[in-house]
Amino acid sequence: MKINKAYKFRIYPNENQKKIIEKSFGCSRYVYNHFLNQRNEIYKAEKRCMKYTEQQNQLPSMKKELVWLKEVDSTSLQMSLRNLDAAFKNFFEGRADRPKFKSKRDNYKTYTSNFVNNNIEIKKDKIKLPKLKYVNAKIHRYFEGRVINATVSKTSSGKYFVSICVETKIEPLKKVSGNVGIDLGLCHFAILSNGEKIQNPKYLKKSLDKLAKEQRKLSSKEKGSNNWNKQRIKVARLHERISNQRLDFIHKLSKRIISDNQVIILEDLSVKNMMKNDKLAQSISDVSWYKFVTILDYKAKWHGRKIHKINRWYPSSKTCNNCGHVLDEMPLYIREWKCPKCDSIHDRDINASRNILKQGLLEIA
Ligand SMILES: [Zn+2]
Repeated sequence: MKINKAYKFRIYPNENQKKIIEKSFGCSRYVYNHFLNQRNEIYKAEKRCMKYTEQQNQLPSMKKELVWLKEVDSTSLQMSLRNLDAAFKNFFEGRADRPKFKSKRDNYKTYTSNFVNNNIEIKKDKIKLPKLKYVNAKIHRYFEGRVINATVSKTSSGKYFVSICVETKIEPLKKVSGNVGIDLGLCHFAILSNGEKIQNPKYLKKSLDKLAKEQRKLSSKEKGSNNWNKQRIKVARLHERISNQRLDFIHKLSKRIISDNQVIILEDLSVKNMMKNDKLAQSISDVSWYKFVTILDYKAKWHGRKIHKINRWYPSSKTCNNCGHVLDEMPLYIREWKCPKCDSIHDRDINASRNILKQGLLEIA
């Protein structure tokens, strides 16, 4: 099967290349905002949604008028418009909030160039990118496949990266007989229906504690001062480290679950509500869970596994996995309980994950 896979590398642009990258961020943002505004206005006036092609047809004349748009890679402007279109699709299909205007002050800046006429190329210690020519890079892994596009990004701590999207072939995994239900834990990252409780890695907890400490320091400093700025970068670097650690953990876990199981059942949790949680540690674990499910989803597609999500209102915690008796309530502090009907003793989370598996298999059948 052919799939798209992204490989991310740190790049070290020189001063001139940095200027072009900044310009590219700016132009991509300009195009995005301009056409977002147009969509909003047309919707207000005519009560209809503009199509991608309708807006794309305006790009050439826009470039004639605004000559500075020609200083950056032209495919990146098109990609910006495509991203806008995708953002609207996600919105209409309920996966995301309404697209917002991008700001100069956004922490994370990106633009994407499409591959045409060998404009993107990976060498031993550098990467060729449109308009930038060769940029120094740390190439830590090699890959085979057809390059599709390259996304240049800058983090809020000032590091540059490029993510190369490649079309590559993968061999499907052999079928296995295992099925698993997964419950999102409160004290654990996840609980599997086979009884396994998966801990959040300790190093992640350590980094989170450190982040909380450094963030307190940041808020005690005068906003805009030199010290504040130094601290801001420190906090941003910690955020990056945490997100890398988290991603690494999630990749390993999802790989194991996919290789051991043919069918994987989860609860369908509303991501939009989860993201609005403002407690730092909780919001990070929510993001982890969301990311975990996303990665499971695409790995399952790659390897011929089935993912099924059961309705989030299904009472997985309150139902006895042995006899099916449903309790009236199940307060969060109860970790273990005895079923009043069949006397089974349940670990709260393992019982829930077993119910998730049972219910999911029922729905599939
Ligand atoms: Zn029971």
